Amino acid sequence: MGWAHRVRDHGGVLFLDLRDRYGITQVVFRPEKAAPPMLEKARSIGSEYVVLVEGQAKARPPGSENAELLTGAMEVEADSVAILNVSRTPPFPLDDEGKASEDLRLRYRYLDLRRESLKNSMIFRHEMTRSVREYLSEQGFLEIETPLLVKPTPEGARDYVVPSRLHPGKFYALPQSPQLYKQILMVAGFDRYFQIARCLRDEDLRADRQPEFTQIDLEMTFVVEDDVFEAVEGTLASIFRRTMGLPLPVPFPRITYDEAMGRFGSDKPDLRIPFEIRDLTDVLGESGFEIFRAAKAGAPKTATLVLPVPGLATASRREIDAFEAAAKQAGAGGLAWARVKGEGLDGGVAKHVTGAVLAKLLETTGAKDGFLLLIASGPRALAQRVLGLLRTQIGNANFTLDDKDFRFVWVHKFPLFEYLEERKAWGPAHHIFTMPLEEDLPYIESDPGRVRAQLYDLAANGSELASGSIRIHRKDIQESVMRTIGMTAEEANTKFGFLLEAFEYGAPPHGGIALGLDRLVILFHGGDSIRDAIAFPKTASATSLMDGAPALIDPADLKELKIRIDR
Ligand code: ASP
Repeated sequence: MGWAHRVRDHGGVLFLDLRDRYGITQVVFRPEKAAPPMLEKARSIGSEYVVLVEGQAKARPPGSENAELLTGAMEVEADSVAILNVSRTPPFPLDDEGKASEDLRLRYRYLDLRRESLKNSMIFRHEMTRSVREYLSEQGFLEIETPLLVKPTPEGARDYVVPSRLHPGKFYALPQSPQLYKQILMVAGFDRYFQIARCLRDEDLRADRQPEFTQIDLEMTFVVEDDVFEAVEGTLASIFRRTMGLPLPVPFPRITYDEAMGRFGSDKPDLRIPFEIRDLTDVLGESGFEIFRAAKAGAPKTATLVLPVPGLATASRREIDAFEAAAKQAGAGGLAWARVKGEGLDGGVAKHVTGAVLAKLLETTGAKDGFLLLIASGPRALAQRVLGLLRTQIGNANFTLDDKDFRFVWVHKFPLFEYLEERKAWGPAHHIFTMPLEEDLPYIESDPGRVRAQLYDLAANGSELASGSIRIHRKDIQESVMRTIGMTAEEANTKFGFLLEAFEYGAPPHGGIALGLDRLVILFHGGDSIRDAIAFPKTASATSLMDGAPALIDPADLKELKIRIDR
């Protein structure tokens, strides 16, 4: 039984490609064997009809085998055929070459999911979650569900809210993550928890985001970050073994946030790109170029950073102008550059960089004949960001990066706070439950900008795959962090009183992490966007084209909820 993938009438002999979840089988109706009414019925089978065939599975006649097909050596010679259901003509072809618009595919998602690539993505996802469950269970983790109707306590994004019928005027929120509950599970003594958890965030959707997405959510008691890293590395290694049959070299390299920004201009660096940023503040500060001299004078707040790109000296002026335009768009005043030609420089700032400065530049950057040097000079953080963007852009456009070469890297010791210009206030770099580094504890309120956190991300090939931290388990530290971001004691109590109270009953040290499952599927298995990892995703405007969510509800229901719509 299956779906009619294709019917081919070869003048008498009729072939039916019958498809189900497991693949395609060729059914053959031969006029010499099949009675005319049966042939006629077979001929009436249309695309995507549901069909029952009885017959004999046989080797195909020699020479007619199809090596492309898993079942290409055999076929079923039909004895009888029944049509179990008919189908309208699908609005797009269900093969992987079919170039239907994504909106159309989302509208008829059940047809889209019949396509080989999407079906395989769902199967891959299942294998992944299965190995996560098995591995973590073996390691002593317990899978515990946390509620979907929770107290509104925004974690950074906007909450989706659900009105309460029994308590008119009050609302539940849908969880942005199980964060508070998993921490409370640690207080409750479940020292190793995990959950394949749905998270809901009402954000304006950026390119590759979904309003609901899935995390592999972990939390552990009495741990340091190494223990969390090991749990994640083990989980990913088990996924690699099961889904790809590949060993995964662990442990992954670790770099601090400062090092990541310094070398790659990004907190999710792509280690496949074969060049990195070099700090030449001192060296170029000795050149005759005023901007470089000023950067040296203002160091370390200002810097002159160089991105030495091998082979790109061939770039035309137009290409270099485009790099400069990208730098300016990222906020830079400009972009200096030079080509390396033989032992010297050519073009751009070449005339300012000579003699000992030139020799030192070539030595420090390792640049040789044929390199293009892109140079950003000014506020250090800005220069890092600008060259980080160019590194990613050029790395992807001009170098061959193998998307099966997974280069994992832990980035840790992030700042605890970031300064929010628009609010003129400090905000948490990740979330407010993150423990500062022991040595930075004294500065939480006196100098928030210098406080680093026990906060870590896992990145691979330019994507952030996971984020987590060792948590604050002491009420006094938690309150100090809340004060720093401008939360009054009253507000802290209203929003997080239950957590703070739990901390008063013997909260153990704990920490955890969450991995974005949808993104892992795309990284490991392939796909155009995380929508390809989700059976029923939403569009960029958070609608479901198949069922029409969100939708109006019955006025009677609104009345019961005591809600009036203000248009
Ligand atoms: N709850 C965090 C998040 O969703 C992850 C974590 O810190 O475990 O980003």
